[in-house]
Amino acid sequence: MFEKVLIANRGEIALRIHRACQEMGIHTVAVHSTADADAMHVRLADEAVCIGPPAPKDSYLNKAAILSAAVITGADAIHPGVGFLSENAAFAEMVEEHGIAFIGPSSEHIRMMGDKIQAKDAARALGIPCVPGSDGAVTSDEEALRIAEEVGFPLIIKAAAGGGGRGMKVAFSMEEVKTALSLCRTEAKAAFGDDAVYIERYLAHPRHIEVQILGDGQGGCIHLGERDCSIQRRHQKVVEEAPSPALNPEQRERIGETVTRAMKEMGYRSAGTIEFLYENGEFYFIEMNTRIQVEHPISEMICGVDLVREQIRIAAGATLDMEQSDIQFQGHSIECRITAEDPESFMPTPGRITDYHAPGGLGVRVDSQLYSGYSVPPFYDSLVSKLIVHGSNRNECLMRLRRSLAEYVIGGIKTTIPLHQKIIGEKRFIDGDYDIHWLERWMGLKD
Ligand code: ADP
Repeated sequence: MFEKVLIANRGEIALRIHRACQEMGIHTVAVHSTADADAMHVRLADEAVCIGPPAPKDSYLNKAAILSAAVITGADAIHPGVGFLSENAAFAEMVEEHGIAFIGPSSEHIRMMGDKIQAKDAARALGIPCVPGSDGAVTSDEEALRIAEEVGFPLIIKAAAGGGGRGMKVAFSMEEVKTALSLCRTEAKAAFGDDAVYIERYLAHPRHIEVQILGDGQGGCIHLGERDCSIQRRHQKVVEEAPSPALNPEQRERIGETVTRAMKEMGYRSAGTIEFLYENGEFYFIEMNTRIQVEHPISEMICGVDLVREQIRIAAGATLDMEQSDIQFQGHSIECRITAEDPESFMPTPGRITDYHAPGGLGVRVDSQLYSGYSVPPFYDSLVSKLIVHGSNRNECLMRLRRSLAEYVIGGIKTTIPLHQKIIGEKRFIDGDYDIHWLERWMGLKD
């Protein structure tokens, strides 16, 4: 097992990884920008190294600085967390070239799944159902128009290198295709340095359902059920739940098996998530995330498996020590992503936390970097806390979530707690009757 793990991230996920390491008797090294010197994970880590100024490109995306910190501190593995360098194949390669383990999949799998066009091809070849659309990249306006005719309207133009809900444009008519295509290309080039785009049918009322898997790259692979992440704003997840209120046990087993078989065939190593849109009883692959995800705790809560611990064990060469039949789904779990944003305008609200009281009690988990006196810096993602609740059934889970949100005090800045309180009180949410457009329609942001 590793003796020292460097955590190449910040915020709640850095703390989450630190906690898993501590429970495994592994020392941790925190790396941080000058803006994060007071961060909780920096305080708790066994060692800390400042890797640069606040701008992510100079610190959390600075491969050489992070690698140097690992070499200097003698870390034998690096956990990349989520975002930043977590899906950067070149970084994974660099890390391994220096004799340091990368806590994640092989760089080859990261590269393949990082390009959504290649990922779709791979998924199709592995027998995973995909959204109908173009066969690969669309290179000219003429080709786009021809495909548009085949696929029909509405359709969505997506960046091959896209992520974080960016680089997507919906077109409702032939006239809109050309403009959407050029807008999407420009945005993709600017955001991801790659203007390759592809076309998919735009599904009208899908749910976003994703399957969590764990593979050891040595023949072992299991799934940990699905998460329903349909409560979204601007293609970004706001509330997630497991299991999905839309699936029955047979559907769950069927999609779980399809995915597990595919990942086993691929020889996938580490935690991974296969994302689908689900409509009228059918699953359509959209992408695979080759890393731990923000919403992983809800799967942990219903399966009783520590996913980060498993990632670490597997990266150290261990095989999976559980089989599919060992995974028993227990009860229901919901996560609210609480951000430092105005709950109405969504303007970021960085600043000092004056009071802090987190909810507790049976079935309540708070993954947050906040503490009283901490200042939320203005440079990064606005996620400041994940409130994760578990109950023996969905109703109990909802009641517990309501009670926990009411208890939660984050003073000094505005957060999205009031928005979560409204969402979970809505009939459509209580009934589990929502799709990926529901939240924006309900908020009046969409017709
Ligand atoms: P990203 O990598 O940016 O998260 P995804 O491909 O995972 O992009 O898509 C994010 C979200 O965008 C989905 O959860 C869904 O809300 C929407 N979306 C993507 N593809 C389609 C599609 N073909 N039809 C309808 N909505 C889509």
